[in-house]
Formats: sequence, structure tokens, C-alpha cells
Amino acid sequence: MIPYGRQDISQADIDAVVDVLKSDFLTQGPQVPAFETAIKQATGAGHALAVNSATSALHIACMALDLGPGDILWTVPNTFVASANVGLYCGADVDFVDIDPATYCMCPVALAAKLETAAAQGKLPKVLIPVHFAGQSADMAAISALARAHDIRVIEDASHAIGASYLGAPVGNCAHSDICVFSFHPVKIITTAEGGVATTNDPDLASKMDLARSHGVTRDPALMQNDSTGGWYYEQVSLGYNYRMTEMQAALGASQMHRLAEFVTRRNALATRYNSLLSDLPVTLPQQNPDAYSAFHLYPVQVQNRAAAFTHLRDNGIGVNVHYIPVHTQPYWQARGFKQGDFPNAETYYNHAISIPLYAGLKDSDQDRVAQVLADAAAL
Ligand SMILES: *Cc1c(COP(=O)(O)O)cnc(C)c1O
Repeated sequence: MIPYGRQDISQADIDAVVDVLKSDFLTQGPQVPAFETAIKQATGAGHALAVNSATSALHIACMALDLGPGDILWTVPNTFVASANVGLYCGADVDFVDIDPATYCMCPVALAAKLETAAAQGKLPKVLIPVHFAGQSADMAAISALARAHDIRVIEDASHAIGASYLGAPVGNCAHSDICVFSFHPVKIITTAEGGVATTNDPDLASKMDLARSHGVTRDPALMQNDSTGGWYYEQVSLGYNYRMTEMQAALGASQMHRLAEFVTRRNALATRYNSLLSDLPVTLPQQNPDAYSAFHLYPVQVQNRAAAFTHLRDNGIGVNVHYIPVHTQPYWQARGFKQGDFPNAETYYNHAISIPLYAGLKDSDQDRVAQVLADAAAL
């Protein structure tokens, strides 16, 4: 089976992890700060906080922005459930903004209309989470302008998009957001097995996220309420979690970062190759926004008969997947009051979507085979 995505682990990656296992620190040592430095250098952000998943990164981001009961968070339905769940973790209400049918990312026109209604009802969101679907930045200039006009804070869910850029600058530099989050799950662009990071340029948000990822406990005298009573002293100043990344994960991430540009270049080359291999098929190919350079986490196509095409591909050794079942159609969210038909663009896209194999280690010959099988599948 050719999988839809997979990690690329080198001998240098393995050596980096083994070295940590032989060292003094398996957690809370020098590797996490070194990985965070690599993320800051790659993105240009002032601060980077590594944690045990992107879900945790989204949660501490919401906490740092003081999202709580009585507040509202908006994200898109075309995402993994975590982008929405983090609002509920904080006790906030969650709602969705439909996607643009061309880019599959948050639609600024739908956002503007929904904001107008919400403003009239006094129900504006406190936090907005656009998702850089498939690795291509959402239209952040338009989205951040609308958010600013209504005093809404923005968290970019860039789980798919490390190594991408937007308007010529790296995604993660937070030029159009308060906080940006990346995932390092093995199918994403680089991996730490499980892991994530939040970047920001705001030192106050960075300090709050640092506390939130480690029990709300600090040893920094500047953050303490009382004077230290000795070298053992620490204070809990807020309620936090244990969301820390291990040293082995950080060493793997830092080692993978050396090949980030290579991975993204290869993914783009494969995407360009798919564009031409599939150009004559009755499939809708992913559209590229000229303002954005995608990290190409996914190569989603739309076919007429998705169920038949999916089965044909899987039966012929092509490990396709579907991204995403719209969050608001999940039973848990339907029980919260959402209905089929609430976000028609996300639903229509989902009904036709298939993500075909794309990862740095995909061989041209395997890609040719995917295209051949897809030619038959798309005709079903
Ligand atoms: C993978 C993913 C997440 C969650 O990432 P984890 O690191 O697995 O917690 C969140 N949002 C999107 C869009 C994702 O693809």
C-alpha cells in the first residue's frame, strides 16, 4: 500500500534521539529550547513554545488569550476536530465560518457577513482560528483586517503549513495573527512523533503559554507574588497542565528541521507533477493562491463519485484518505445543535474529496501508479 502520508526519518534523526537517551535529561533539558530556537529562526517569530501536540498548543493559545465561559470561538468546519474542541476545553462556545470553495480555507466573504450579523446581535467571537488547509495559507490579510476591525484575536492553525509562506514571508511569523500553531504528527511536514509548537511575537502571551504548558508553576522571580524562601522555591500562579514536549521529541524535531526546506521543495515538485499527470482527468485539482507558497501537507482532489473512487484506490494499493468530515456534522457537534446544511461549501467539498499520496519520500514511479489508478477511479 502506498500511504497518503508518512514520516521521513534519517540516520541523523535516529542518532539525535539516541544521543538524548544517553544524556542526563530526558525532559526539561537543553533540547526543547534548541528546537524552539530552530522554529524561531525558520519562522521569524519572537517566541516559540514547544508542547506535546498541536492540540495542546491550540489549547494554551486559547488560554493565553483568556478565552473562557461566555466567550465565543470561531473556526472552520473543514478541519480536524481539535481546532474546534479547544474552545470547549476553555468553556467557550464554538461556531464555524464556511470555507471558500476554491481554496478550502476560511472564506473572508462568509466571515464578513457572519461578523456583521454577530455584531448586530452582540455575539462577536473573542478568538478566530483560520486553518491553513493542505499547507496553503488562508487569506490572512483579509481575515486579520476583519478581526482587527472587531477587536477579535487570531490563532492560525498552521498544523499543515510549517515551511509554507504567505506574501513572501514564512507562515508562523504572526504578521497577521496573535499566535500560530504547528503540528509534528508523523503525517505532517516534519515530525516529533507527537508534538506541536505555538509561535508569537507578544512576550506576555509567550509567558502565559509557558505557564499553561507546565502546571502554572514558575521559578522566575519576576512572575512570583511572594519573595523566594530559598533555592527550592517555586510558585503556582495560574492553573496549567502538563503539556511538555520530551527531550527525545525535541531532538528529533531539531534534526528534522535541517531538512524542512528539502521536504517542502520535494512536496511542491510532486504537487506540480500531479498537476500535469492529472490535468486531463475529470477531477478538480487543488487551486493555488498566488499570494501563498504551500507546504503541501495534502494533495486533495475532488471526484464525481467519491465512495466508488475511494474504494477502487484502496483496493488497488493506494492508501488514500479524506480530509475532512466537516466538524459540525460529527455526532458530538450535532448534539450541540449543528445540522447538515449549516456550512454547504464544506459539506459539498467533503462529499467529493480524496487526499492522494503525498510525502517527501514518495517516488516518481509510485506517483505514476497513483495517477494511473486514479484515472480509472475518477471515471467510476
Ligand atoms: C493534525 C492537526 C491538528 C492536531 O494536531 P496534533 O499534533 O495531532 O494534536 C489540529 N489541526 C489540524 C488542522 C490538524 O491537521
